[in-house]
Amino acid sequence: MALKRTKIVDVFDPALVGQQVCVKGWVRSRRGNKFVQFVALNDGSTINNLQIVIDLEKFTEEELRPITTGASLHVEGQLVQSQGKGQTVEVQAQTIEIYGTADPEEYPLQKKGHTLEFLRSKAHLRMRTNTFGAIFRIRHHLAFAIHKFFNDKGFFYLNTPLITASDCEGAGDMFQVTTLDLSDLPKTEEGKTDYSKDFFGKSTSLTVSGQLEGELGATALGAIYTFGPTFRAENSNTPRHLAEFWMIEPEMAFYDITDNMDLAEEFIKYCVNYALEHCQEDIEFLNKMYDNTLIDRLHSVLKEPFVRLTYTEGIEILKQAKKKFEFPVDWGVDLQSEHERYLVEEHFKRPVILTDYPREIKAFYMKQNEDGKTVRAMDVLFPMIGEIIGGSEREADYDKLMSEIERRGIPMKDMWWYLDTRRFGTVPHSGFGLGFERLILFVTGMANIRDVIPFPRTPNNAEF
Ligand code: ATP
Ligand code: MN
Repeated sequence: MALKRTKIVDVFDPALVGQQVCVKGWVRSRRGNKFVQFVALNDGSTINNLQIVIDLEKFTEEELRPITTGASLHVEGQLVQSQGKGQTVEVQAQTIEIYGTADPEEYPLQKKGHTLEFLRSKAHLRMRTNTFGAIFRIRHHLAFAIHKFFNDKGFFYLNTPLITASDCEGAGDMFQVTTLDLSDLPKTEEGKTDYSKDFFGKSTSLTVSGQLEGELGATALGAIYTFGPTFRAENSNTPRHLAEFWMIEPEMAFYDITDNMDLAEEFIKYCVNYALEHCQEDIEFLNKMYDNTLIDRLHSVLKEPFVRLTYTEGIEILKQAKKKFEFPVDWGVDLQSEHERYLVEEHFKRPVILTDYPREIKAFYMKQNEDGKTVRAMDVLFPMIGEIIGGSEREADYDKLMSEIERRGIPMKDMWWYLDTRRFGTVPHSGFGLGFERLILFVTGMANIRDVIPFPRTPNNAEF
């Protein structure tokens, strides 16, 4: 009977020592001499490689020649305590089946130590490296943690549409979705594109946020969260923006802004703690290879409460700062990442929740404060990242919301369904959006958002 495969993550079990095992994976490296060869085998289940020991009395050089970095193998043999240092157990190969070779002249990952930039140009293969293996295992565990956090709190996972007809969310530039023939567009009498001929009978785009639909869910199910792809045609090449990213958007009935802040803080701390507990080896690897302050930073955000202050107070601190900013600060400006990072990294040395922003720089749906100038917004600012969460208490009053929509000239024909939340059984409610990749940036210590999503979409980049 064929021996059942053991995943490499499970093979480091002392109870298996002495047993016959079957392992499968890809060769990370091969070294040795004319008596014995050592193959480091990895199957993606763990950062750790399994050492395969090949006795040259049992195998010919000819048989071993195709075993080069990147080749895929099926190995059977005895699991033994390792004699060498660097690993606890190893497999003494009895049979080796080569599934596929990887020509050393052609295989892009033949050598070690490629730059992250080079690996971005090989995104179709980079998941086979230690670094990207670690990052994408962490990404998985964080996704799972997010569902667990909300599920345990009684929130319902709500799927909001990716194709939307409203272009009023105001969160960013949108990608249009159409089946019209772009080289032969139907025209109206006025000479404009006739979208009534388009697939949905109107102009549509990819969503920039699931929030508006999320509010419909929250005012029915009480508390919901979305977790899905989001699209913004941001034509800026920054290390913190993608054109396609994943966002988590909880939305809660009967939450005011303080409840909202409490939830956001508890949520992020839960995710960071979950990663520390479930991704220890991968985080240690990244800490060792890229940023030896990573683990300390992760622990430090768990330790203390986040600082909470108003935008107005934040501006005062920034104006008094001795630092010279590229973008000048004054009350009313939108904060740049340099300002956010100054508050977090230099002034408070802790994550900061900034509230009560000027209404002119925030979205129309945020609850208006009595001062007539500010809204009940809250942004969570993180070290190395800047804004990681943006949220608010929502304006629940129909008349106030309506007048803001009119003041901004937002087309009503797109908004009637949203306004029904305020017409029928309106309630105080709040929510926020967490950029999933920004959370992963923080947890992995990576510096570029292109390195924490398997297939990044950025301007001029959609090859794989
Ligand atoms: P920023 O000011 O950093 O561009 P934003 O204010 O436009 O962000 P929101 O509309 O508040 O962002 O979106 C909520 C969250 O989504 C942000 O806090 C951030 O974590 C994430 N996010 C926003 N835009 C992007 C993007 N282009 N790529 C990746 N994550 C993003
Ligand atoms: Mn924001």
